[in-house]
Amino acid sequence: MVMIAAPVLDALAAIVGSKHVIAGSDERSLSCGEDWRGLVRRRPALLLRPGSTAEVSAVMRVLHEARIAVVPQGGNTGLCGGAVPAEDDNEVVLSLSRMRGMQAVERSAGSILVEAGCVLATVQAAALAAGRLFPLSLAAEGSCQIGGNIATNAGGVAVLRYGTMRELVLGLEVVLADGTVLDFLKGLRKDNTGIDLKQLFIGSEGALGIITRARLRLHPLPVRSLTVLGAAPSAAAVVQAYAAFSSQLGSRLSAFELIDRACIEAVAAHIPGARDPFGAPHPFYFLLELDDTLAGADLETAAESTLAALMEDDAVSDAAVAQNETQAGAFWALRENVSEALRGAGRLLKYDISIPDIPAFLDAVTADILTAFPAVRPFVFGHIGDGNLHLNMSLAAPDAALEAALTERVYDLVDAHAGSFSAEHGVGQFKVAEMARYKPAAELALMRSLKTVFDPRGLLNPGKLLP
Ligand code: FAD
Repeated sequence: MVMIAAPVLDALAAIVGSKHVIAGSDERSLSCGEDWRGLVRRRPALLLRPGSTAEVSAVMRVLHEARIAVVPQGGNTGLCGGAVPAEDDNEVVLSLSRMRGMQAVERSAGSILVEAGCVLATVQAAALAAGRLFPLSLAAEGSCQIGGNIATNAGGVAVLRYGTMRELVLGLEVVLADGTVLDFLKGLRKDNTGIDLKQLFIGSEGALGIITRARLRLHPLPVRSLTVLGAAPSAAAVVQAYAAFSSQLGSRLSAFELIDRACIEAVAAHIPGARDPFGAPHPFYFLLELDDTLAGADLETAAESTLAALMEDDAVSDAAVAQNETQAGAFWALRENVSEALRGAGRLLKYDISIPDIPAFLDAVTADILTAFPAVRPFVFGHIGDGNLHLNMSLAAPDAALEAALTERVYDLVDAHAGSFSAEHGVGQFKVAEMARYKPAAELALMRSLKTVFDPRGLLNPGKLLP
């Protein structure tokens, strides 16, 4: 337990204002100490809410001097416990939520400069108002923040066409553990002047520095979009459908999602207004989005001919092309509400994994894991176009020993299938053991060396990321 001395508290209050220095026992601090899924509840030593880069820098100088650990927190929607303390009363939570400034977008602009605390949906809306697209899109977009998106290198549903957050960041401003401000905000497309240091902060989960501002890449706004919901007899058939759409429609394919029957049933049962999309049940469903920036593009004809060929091959059993935005929204709601619907599915273990051959992996899950753990119920969905599966395993009640054995078996299988134990959610405090088990020792040693260079006192987000 860290005792924060009165002169330190006074110095912090002088920087951010006393109303933004909030005691750890205060309700606002306690809610910042709990992660989105309610799996971790920690009492922060303090909650700090700086309002500018200069304040973040001054606060970090004071905390560094006093050797007090800091947990950067964005929207706190992360799913690995990265944004909440690892221990009670020991870490200051530094919330970026007051830093919501945003530069107005010029219509012709290819970028937007935002503070790290801007909520993703607000940035999307600002881009849209200027006739541009900020394509990062995920179900938590109403509360996750740009700083958190960058710190986790967020993925989401449009990675197929636009890439992960890394590909959407042109420039960054970062405050180091000792308060040093690094300005990489120029946003030049070409700048081969040594090692591109800003890349190190993207996906570093608050362990190397605090992201305070970012220059983000904007894309042309599609003027035509088409959403298709399909049903398929197997995961292999969904992959076949993906391959067909990808080769027929190329970069117009911006999203391709897989949802299994169990997820559709959960959404239909728990989400008001949601319903089973087709007359008969099917083992797997896919949801795809086609976009074009040219008004004349006939996406519908292209989609229908691709679907017809797939139906001929028995790879697609049924399909519906959304006829208007309301219907497209209803299709997307089936996918976006899966996490919410599964909140009521008992004790849920979530595995966010990347796999090169998803059908082979799912066959192995059935043959190996479901045989070894017959009481477990799987729910599978994910961004199949980029190989990212969200494998959820539900148990009737918590069972620590069974959960540990199941998790090890799942990740061993992922490893055997040349996959990754964390595709887009990161490591946080939940997957530190997997870092030790599956990451090569040489990579871990290099990561530790980097951590020491940027944060020699180990004050940034302790207990996260590195074993
Ligand atoms: P937080 O949860 O606050 O923080 C996440 C990590 O980043 C922590 O380690 C924290 O310390 C660090 N951090 C936060 N802000 C900063 C900063 N300014 N500087 C340095 N470090 C910082 N993720 C995906 O990638 N794709 C999805 O499709 C997706 N879907 C989701 C759906 C739901 C319903 C939910 C709840 C979450 C989903 N997520 C998804 C996970 C989560 O939304 C993302 O990881 C998001 O990018 C986190 O942003 P945040 O602002 O909430 O970050």
